[in-house]
Parts: sequence; structure tokens; C-alpha cells
Amino acid sequence: MSDTALRLAIVEIGRRLWMRGFVASNDGNISTRLGPDRLLMTPASVSKGFMTPEMMVVTDLDGRLVAGEPGRKPSSEILMHLVAYRERPDVGAVVHAHPPLSTGFAVAGIALDRAVLAEVVTTLGSIPIAAYGTPSTRELADTVAPYVKAHDGLLLANHGALALGKDLFGAYYKMETIEHFAQISLVARQLGREHLLSREEVERLQALRGRYGIAAPAPICPDPSPADADPSCQVVYAPSAPGERLVPDTSVASASSDLPRSIGTEGEIRLTYAQLTALIDEAVREIAATLKR
Ligand SMILES: [Zn+2]
Repeated sequence: MSDTALRLAIVEIGRRLWMRGFVASNDGNISTRLGPDRLLMTPASVSKGFMTPEMMVVTDLDGRLVAGEPGRKPSSEILMHLVAYRERPDVGAVVHAHPPLSTGFAVAGIALDRAVLAEVVTTLGSIPIAAYGTPSTRELADTVAPYVKAHDGLLLANHGALALGKDLFGAYYKMETIEHFAQISLVARQLGREHLLSREEVERLQALRGRYGIAAPAPICPDPSPADADPSCQVVYAPSAPGERLVPDTSVASASSDLPRSIGTEGEIRLTYAQLTALIDEAVREIAATLKR
């Protein structure tokens, strides 16, 4: 893509991020490689919904400003972008935004790492949460660094989401997938249960990546335990079940165990709030009657 085409692509992606409510005010930032030692990036302090091509700034891979309109500075999150390019030579573009549903998961501390949607398993694998770091500081770049090695999408604790791609639209589409996945995960959890793809099915899906031209991903960690997660593999919750494609969610180690476990378990009795209230009222009346006798 020419310099002009890249600038226009950033403007268009910024407009889509803003139109879809993935950013508010001046949130978010977008960058792409412009050459071996050059990045093209959104400037600081502009709404991503109202950018023009000439607003973009050019920096080197150390973040030094090389070109831009007078007074324009690179995005305040440039350090996080630089880490992504440094750790991942295959990455050509980075998109950061605060989409409300995925950011909600990031605030709740719930990673999007359960194997529930075939497309997500194929394109992104798992979406972990990088620990909180103060936005725009080296601290945030440092918390992100270990995850970008094996992930194209990640949540930033109490902040937002980050997507890496081979090119600008590749990174933007991954941001869409992260938010869509968060939306579906939230609905499934509100409905009270999630069926997981089996580990065998996840491996089958990941083997299909080549056929769809998706770059070879980081492998799945053999023993998913986030406490000692290996940064070179992906933690995916997908219980092994040879011969089965879908398995009931029996994971207790996942973050969703924060949800009431009675929901969706076998043999439970489900009551509406009104039914429960009626039962309690009845019990209170019975106790009162017993006491009177
Ligand atoms: Zn941000």
C-alpha cells in the first residue's frame, strides 16, 4: 500500500471504531509499518471518528517523531505499539480501542480464553488479559510485552483491548472479533451455560488455519494453568474429550467460576424471583403459624 492509501485506511478504521462505539472522545490509536524503520500512526488527542489523512505522524521504531503537521505528536500509547512491532516482526499493524463489552470483561478480570466459537479459535485462539498498567506509560508496554508473542488479541486490565494484524484491516477485523466474541460470551453466560469445544476439536480447527490463509498460530499450552502460563503458547479452556466435539462446561478453574455455579449445573431447581419470593413468604407464614400454636 502507498503512503496515501495507508493514511486513508487509518482514517477509515478510526471512523469505524468511533461509529461502532469502540472508542469515546479521543480514545484509541492505530498504527502501521510504513517501511523497515518507519511507522505511520494516529496523532495524540484527536477523535478517531474525525481524522484526516494529513493528521497522521511518522515515527521511527524507537518512537522518535520523523514527520507530521506542526504541533502533532504521536499517540500517547506509542510505547505499547512499539513493543508489538519489536516482539512480532510478522505484525504490520496495531489497533487499540476501548470496546465496551470486551473492556467490561477486562474490568471484571475475566479472560476470553474459553473455546466456544470456531471462528475465534481459528483466527485468534485465546484472548488473555494483560495485568493493569497505567495508560501511556512504560509500565503498560511492559505488561503487554509477554502476551504479544503468542496472541493477536488481548484485553488490557481495566482499560481496553489490543489487536495485532498483518495489515491495518487485519488488525481492525481482529478488534471486531474480540468485541463480537465478548458480546456472545456475555449472552451465553447470562443464559446460564456455555458448551465448550473439546480440545480435539480445537486442534482440528487450528489445523484448518493454513487452508484459510491464516498464519500459523502459537500452539495451545498443554496444561492450561494461567498462574504459570508460558508466554510462548496460548491458554485455551477446552477439556479433552476424544470423539466428542462439544463438552459441557465443567471447568472450575476458570474466571467464570465467579458466576453463580448453581446456574446451568445438572439437577438444579430453577426458580424465578417471583416464585422464590412466594416460597419464602409461604415458609414465613408457616413458621409464624407454628409459633402461634
Ligand atoms: Zn486506551
